[in-house]
Amino acid sequence: MSTPLKKNKTSRKKFIKNSSMAVAASLLISSCKEEQSNSGPNIISNKKFKWKMVTTWPPNFPILGECCNLFSQWVSEMSAGRLEIKVFGGGELVPPLEAFDAVSNGAVEMGHGASYYWAGLSPAFQFFATVPFGMNGQQFNAWIGNGGGYKMYKELYSKYNTVPFLGGNTGVQMGGWFNKEVNTIDDFKGLKMRMPGLGGKVLEKVGATAVLVPGSELYTSLERGVIDATEWIGPYHDYIMGFHKIAKYYYSPGWHEPGTGLEFFANKRSYENLPSDLQSIIKVAASKVNQWVFHAFETKNGEYLTKLKEENVDFRLFSEDILKNLKEKTNEVLAEVTSADPYSKKVYDAYQKFQAQVNSWADYSERVYYRSF
Ligand code: CA
Repeated sequence: MSTPLKKNKTSRKKFIKNSSMAVAASLLISSCKEEQSNSGPNIISNKKFKWKMVTTWPPNFPILGECCNLFSQWVSEMSAGRLEIKVFGGGELVPPLEAFDAVSNGAVEMGHGASYYWAGLSPAFQFFATVPFGMNGQQFNAWIGNGGGYKMYKELYSKYNTVPFLGGNTGVQMGGWFNKEVNTIDDFKGLKMRMPGLGGKVLEKVGATAVLVPGSELYTSLERGVIDATEWIGPYHDYIMGFHKIAKYYYSPGWHEPGTGLEFFANKRSYENLPSDLQSIIKVAASKVNQWVFHAFETKNGEYLTKLKEENVDFRLFSEDILKNLKEKTNEVLAEVTSADPYSKKVYDAYQKFQAQVNSWADYSERVYYRSF
């Protein structure tokens, strides 16, 4: 009879042996599959494709515009020039918020933006960008990439003749710039604040007025008192905008955008007309951008937080009570959105289920880890 130790050793050996056999078998299967799927005459074709990409960002905009240029460069390099994508900033070819329409109707082949901009077509789009008090960047990436989210993402976009690909994440955003202290939930009453999307609807429920001022007009609006407060992104982009020169308090966290997903979208027919290797190149380059953007935000926000501290910005945290109130109102907004639209309910049910699962893991990982320093 074997001792528990020996038994463990034996079962570990057995496990390792079985695992390596399984890996070898799956590698064999996947290489056969690859051979099959890559054996078409399509692949050898030297046919060249020239695409246009419209974006919702100003040309070469830090990180968000830069990542589109990188995408184009990587696709060109990987395809040895067989797929060239010319990038246009918002307004250069079509207005920023018409980027999705232009791709959907085939005027251009590709776009980059964030899905909450298309909420006018269907409220369900918003769940593929961000949800107040929703998942953070790494959780959202896990949902789309591994947790079944992509199936619904693709299904929704297919209704609009498009194919989506994740194309970046901002990480947790900041709560915004204010010219008066926000100590209780009542301090939101009568406040005129720039905030898009579901977060804006939540603000309305606590007595604020949510306005959607375009980025280009934000500085002047806040400086002239047209608005009392604004959210934008995080330390890097907010520093560039110069908000620290005209607002007193910089609040955290960005409860309304805990990890906004950015995206590429291709015209479905154009994408399906590409040889399969060029389709794979698009997928790989988008995935690389998704990672690059996330890492760029993390790096730059750390760097520019230091700069803002050097400018003596008054950093504040929303109180637990304020966040609890905003969360309750968020639940009301989400209940209204999902009861009015069955497809939004289907998507949000899946989102919520995944969020509950990863949050319970976070209770044993990130949440406790962050408490340790
Ligand atoms: Ca924002």
